[in-house]
Amino acid sequence: MSESWNKRTQAVHGGIRRSQYNEVSEAIYLTQGFVYENAEQAEARFLECGPDEFIYARYGNPTVSMFEQRIAALEGAEDAFATASGMAAVNGALTSMLKAGDHIVSAKALFGSCLYIVENILTRFGVDVTFVDGTNLDEWKEAIRPDTKAVFFESMSNPTLEVIDISAVADLAHAVGAQVIVDNVFSTPVFSRAIEQGADVVIYSATKHIDGQGRALGGVIIGTKDFIRGTVEPYLKHTGGALSPFNAWIMLKGLETMALRVNAQAETAQMVAESLEGHGALERTLYPGLKSHAQSALVQTQLGGKGGTVLSLDIKGGKEAAFAFLNALTIPVISNNLGDAKSIATHPATTTHQRLSDEQKDELGITPGLIRLSIGLEDAADLLADIKRALDVSQR
Ligand SMILES: *Cc1c(COP(=O)(O)O)cnc(C)c1O
Repeated sequence: MSESWNKRTQAVHGGIRRSQYNEVSEAIYLTQGFVYENAEQAEARFLECGPDEFIYARYGNPTVSMFEQRIAALEGAEDAFATASGMAAVNGALTSMLKAGDHIVSAKALFGSCLYIVENILTRFGVDVTFVDGTNLDEWKEAIRPDTKAVFFESMSNPTLEVIDISAVADLAHAVGAQVIVDNVFSTPVFSRAIEQGADVVIYSATKHIDGQGRALGGVIIGTKDFIRGTVEPYLKHTGGALSPFNAWIMLKGLETMALRVNAQAETAQMVAESLEGHGALERTLYPGLKSHAQSALVQTQLGGKGGTVLSLDIKGGKEAAFAFLNALTIPVISNNLGDAKSIATHPATTTHQRLSDEQKDELGITPGLIRLSIGLEDAADLLADIKRALDVSQR
């Protein structure tokens, strides 16, 4: 394995660990435990477990390790810890490093479950949280204190697709010694270089683009060896958020094709967004790849101009029109995953973000007419025609 490999090579060969049979495709070690040669070896392993040694699948497993090493290599990071879901990763990263009395600053535009952890769980254990508008650097500057332990944000927010300046926020956080924890799902491992841009910890829900085919839940926390083995691992190995070896294998195979899928999906998303912008049925077309996007310049520097695989459409006529649009679609399915091979349409106000108060929805721009559209791998012309037809239906 070579550290000088580019992302595409790492995604196919990174972290590989072959058995005595020298298999081509990664083996699934579907085992909960490992046999010791003798009692002395068991004792030694519990005292110190080496990188190619295993004790129990809640602590680590060879297939899971392959996935951890592959995604760490891809991100240019030292290490990673795989988890049962994206939320286990968010919870594991935050809870393992924080204690009562600590202060964190968080963007307020967060996925519903991320908001629940920050707003309801961390505060219950005495963590002090300040929320800011993540796109406003003055608010970050004001909120970050000399004793701030960490900052947390989604680099591209769900579902309004605001883009947050990782290096600018990291500069402010690092000036007081705070850790920068980034939920990077929407930016994807294909377009993001978050570690290079100043993130200390990067989190993915592998359920999204890494699997990319809607099969399994998974998540991963990526960071320094010190943080992953010293802080995250002790927490997760005792609290049980481990990724199953079978799901790790799905994620490993997903990584091999991820760049091809995500690039194709983003290309279609860009085409669809450009074609729909200004459409008579739409109040707004939100897509980070559009020149009209509020952080368009940042999308160039932070993401190489790539807007990702998700766009959001604010349909004229509120909830009724949005539901008529959803029910008229014949290609995108109504569901709530994203990054999938199948295009997926979601009405955040009544599903993923239902729990928020009307006031919070208003503040975050989650209007009754807003549809989140995750672009899949279908033919781009078919998809655009279907969306346009459903938009016409929505206005009848
Ligand atoms: C989906 C998602 C998660 C949670 O991931 P799961 O795998 O569903 O637990 C966290 N953050 C963001 C931004 C997401 O889109």
